[in-house]
Amino acid sequence: MSILVIGSVALDTVETPFARKEDTLGGAASYFSTAASLYNQVNLVAVVGSDFPPEHLDFWRSRPVNLAGLQIQDGKTFRWAARYHLDMNARDTLDTQLGVYAGFHAVIPSEYRQSPLLFLANIQPALQMEVLEQIPDAQLTVLDTMELWIMTTRPQLTEVIKRVDMLLMSEEEVRQYTNQPSIVTGVRHLLDMGLKYVVVKQGSYGALLFGADGSYFSAPSYPLEEVIDPTGAGDAFAGGLLGFLSTVEPASDGTYALEDIKCGVVHGNILGSFVCEDFSIGRLRTLTMDDIARRYQALVDCSHFDPHWQNRMDGMHSTAPR
Ligand code: AMP
Repeated sequence: MSILVIGSVALDTVETPFARKEDTLGGAASYFSTAASLYNQVNLVAVVGSDFPPEHLDFWRSRPVNLAGLQIQDGKTFRWAARYHLDMNARDTLDTQLGVYAGFHAVIPSEYRQSPLLFLANIQPALQMEVLEQIPDAQLTVLDTMELWIMTTRPQLTEVIKRVDMLLMSEEEVRQYTNQPSIVTGVRHLLDMGLKYVVVKQGSYGALLFGADGSYFSAPSYPLEEVIDPTGAGDAFAGGLLGFLSTVEPASDGTYALEDIKCGVVHGNILGSFVCEDFSIGRLRTLTMDDIARRYQALVDCSHFDPHWQNRMDGMHSTAPR
């Protein structure tokens, strides 16, 4: 099952407390496509400027990434600059230049229209909506966003949220959008908008899955000792989640079993952890399914605990001296 993605393809300048990289390949759709293409074919919808280095396109051509929907226009590629704090869960955006994305309209090639899975990666909500409207029969629609769009295009973002099945947001973004100090209350407000699932990304602490049916799952994070660059962790997370779901069969009505969604969230955490091991998509280039399987087992081992413990201390408490 192929996955259609619309989102940014960018050149990033990233500063961590230890290193700086200029004009390195970035963008939400870049991380997503590279991660998800480990599982299945990705149909990319994006635009780059005439300054975009062609070797990045050559890399995607070596993977199952369909570039028929990637436009190359006169002008500048999307550029983003950010600086990470010593706690690399926190960063400041220094600059965002939309370049050729300003005024871009998505043209979906006919060969993309049967994609059952649709990922609206981080980009202007108006563009996300354009794609959503052109793929009305997708089985699962998943949305990601960022502070810039929450702050500058909230009404358009709200319209997209109301139309998708699943929303991915960082903990901070849930607070920004819902204005609720409690994540659980914030998520309830989001679910009330009609979403089936909300996934709250917690950086190096893992991810939480909330379902409209009251289901809840906390996915463990992999304890990485050295984080080189966390950029793209959220997008690679989405790549692991949708990549995994593209390998399982949904029910006849197109819905995915909760157990499969949970497993997808774990794959998300795994891909998110790998991407932090290098700048840009460096680590994703060499990643294999065996690497993913080893980390999957490590997460199973570290999050499994005795389900049979029972409270047998009631009597002891009642007789204990004060
Ligand atoms: P993440 O670290 O998963 O939040 O994603 C970071 C990536 O998103 C970077 O590679 C940026 O190029 C891209 N990005 C940053 N800001 C935006 C934005 N406002 N819209 C679309 N993509 C963005």
